[in-house]
This record gives sequence, C-alpha cells and structure tokens, in this order.
Amino acid sequence: MHVLVDKNKCHGHNRCVALADEVFDVDDEGFAVVVLDTIPPEQHDKVRRAELACPERAITIEE
Ligand code: SF4
Repeated sequence: MHVLVDKNKCHGHNRCVALADEVFDVDDEGFAVVVLDTIPPEQHDKVRRAELACPERAITIEE
C-alpha cells in the first residue's frame, strides 16, 4: 500500500495524523505529509480510517 496527500486539497485539520501518526506528519506550513513510502500491513486499517475521516478527500490510497 502507498498513500498520497493532495496538498491542493489538504486544509490541515490533522485528523489523519491523529488517526495514524506513524504514517502522517505535519509539515512546516501545517499540511499533512506521508512519512512512509510503503505502508506496512499493520498500518493499513488506520490509513483507511484516515482516508475516510479526511473532510477534504485529500488522501488517496494505492493498493
Ligand atoms: S485530514 Fe485531510 S485535510 Fe486534514 S490534514 Fe489530513 S489530509 Fe489534510
């Protein structure tokens, strides 16, 4: 699994960080960044929850 954050859509709510803090972090401008190139299986459920929780639909999962 790979995850992308569209910076043009991200509004920096940081719900993704709250739900999966080993996958998402916040950059200097307050927007979400993905810190892992490949998401390990034990993080998949958290990432799917983060994708669903993102109000801007800024998170894309590639299986
Ligand atoms: S939840 Fe969505 S909009 Fe909010 S910081 Fe994460 S990617 Fe950005």
